[in-house]
Amino acid sequence: MKPLPLRPLPVPSEALSDYLERLANANGYRASELWNILDRGEYPHEQVLSGALNGHILPEFSGPTQQGIDIEVQLSGLRAADFTRMRRRWCPLCIENAAWLRPAWRLKVMTVCEMHRVQLLETCPVCHRLGSIQAILHGACECGARYVQFIVPATRKQIQLAELLAGSLKDRVILTLGNVTAILTTQQLVRMIFYTAQLGKGPQLSRPGQLQNLEELSVALHLVDGAATLIADWPNAFWHCLELYVEASPADASVRRVFGALYQVIYHHLHEPVFQFWRDAFELFLLDHWRGELCGRHRLFKEHTIQAHPNRGLAYVARMTGVGSETLKRMVHQDWLPGNRFTGPKKRELITVDSKLLARLIPDPADYLDMRSAARVLGVKRTRLRELVATGVILADAKPDWRRSNQWNFRRSEVCGFLEQLRQVALPNLPKAPTVPLNYALRYWRVNALELAALLRTAKQGEIPFTLPDQGLLRDITFDEAGLRDWLAQHRALSIDWVSVPAAADLLCLKEQVVYELVAKNMLIADLVQKNGYSQKRISRSSLERFRGEYITLVELANQQKMSVRSLLNRLNVTPVTGPKIDGGRQYFYRRDDLQGDILSGITTSS
Ligand SMILES: [Zn+2]
Ligand SMILES: [Zn+2]
Repeated sequence: MKPLPLRPLPVPSEALSDYLERLANANGYRASELWNILDRGEYPHEQVLSGALNGHILPEFSGPTQQGIDIEVQLSGLRAADFTRMRRRWCPLCIENAAWLRPAWRLKVMTVCEMHRVQLLETCPVCHRLGSIQAILHGACECGARYVQFIVPATRKQIQLAELLAGSLKDRVILTLGNVTAILTTQQLVRMIFYTAQLGKGPQLSRPGQLQNLEELSVALHLVDGAATLIADWPNAFWHCLELYVEASPADASVRRVFGALYQVIYHHLHEPVFQFWRDAFELFLLDHWRGELCGRHRLFKEHTIQAHPNRGLAYVARMTGVGSETLKRMVHQDWLPGNRFTGPKKRELITVDSKLLARLIPDPADYLDMRSAARVLGVKRTRLRELVATGVILADAKPDWRRSNQWNFRRSEVCGFLEQLRQVALPNLPKAPTVPLNYALRYWRVNALELAALLRTAKQGEIPFTLPDQGLLRDITFDEAGLRDWLAQHRALSIDWVSVPAAADLLCLKEQVVYELVAKNMLIADLVQKNGYSQKRISRSSLERFRGEYITLVELANQQKMSVRSLLNRLNVTPVTGPKIDGGRQYFYRRDDLQGDILSGITTSS
């Protein structure tokens, strides 16, 4: 075995194939030609190469393996597909320092020089020819372009990843992500980059880990950037990817379906413990953002994640609260209970509920009063209590026991507090008689729901004087009679309150036809409203009050005087405002003012 005339020595860790090319180039051959000359099939290949180098002891070469040459190389656990095959990448500044190809440049995922912080080259920036070994080692293209003159700075995230890759070829490296660290080998780093490079695509990602044309530097630059971004902005960039998935399938409750390829990557392809940080970040995201259920079926999730996840399926909630699933479902549909609704397989609806809300479903029954008890505690009829709820004076709460009733329930504190507030502002006694208890006024003064609500509000603010004994209830509230009348009159005058003609007839104890006549004669003021497509007359309550004060019927007068209608009509000197003999009206009405002297003098004297 004759030594070669020119013998540039291999640099420890140099890729075997790159060294052979370099050696061949120095001696004016191509690599395959040189090996045919050297290897006659007589000696082991290591001995062949060593002999060609005049007995030089060979260092450890790095991958990839060279087909047909049986010299051991350090593969660092990588596959042949992880190395560039035909193309070479190089850093022009490194080549200026020492003209040999660094082992890291053969990794398809290596795109920048971490030392010089520049992008690697693959072609001549001027003529776009792929770099040949000869040109690369010379630092200049056949077209004359010097590579050092074409430097593209690398980004921070690219450098971070390249440092890890280059470092890992010597020893395991520490990946630091906030307060999380992972110790990785080259093989693990490369695989992680392969599988996570495209996660940023979101739900469109279909075949993770299958990266086409990674041999091309431009393709590699783009894909590796994807992985570098996730690492550089951990975990925000990753969480942003996850958001894309959640947004794409808002109605799906299956983690595996929603996160599809991404789920496969982090739970299957990258299943080793060293990649746990991906799963941790994923599960942390789920705790905050996953509205579906995480149950025991998700065996791959950490126990803590399943326990801490707030959203629970209806079956679980039903078990915990003793409320039926159907009832719960109805509560969610009617917005009584905030729930997350999904469409499951076969269009079946799935619902989850934040378990923090469960306390609301199972309150202490002792805190609540049903309608009957609340009415008793307050001292009002149930119909009045309903009015007080309808007008917002007293709050009825959600039903504490969803199983049994759909009646209103009242917080004991709300009911007692309301009464207590009234007791606080009550006076020890009223300055003048006569007085009237609220109960009486409610029964005989036609106080409607809105008026009662307003009265109680006014009373609570201490704006109308009243008394209420220590243990007294609502019905025991006592007002100064004249004061209450004034207040009611004022309130009615201020609040526009309309009644229909039949209601007005009721209130005045007249026939409807008579009320229509009074409206026609402008004695009652009415206006027209459209209701269900019909025009309807309505009469303001103040106009009714005014009418009552101004006019009186003959019948009512006769009753008062205990006389027959006919004889009273004959004896009165006053002309009615309307009536059968006046204007053909159905009934006689007198103006009260006109009667003043007449009734008091004429009739009383005669009797
Ligand atoms: Zn460099
Ligand atoms: Zn060129």
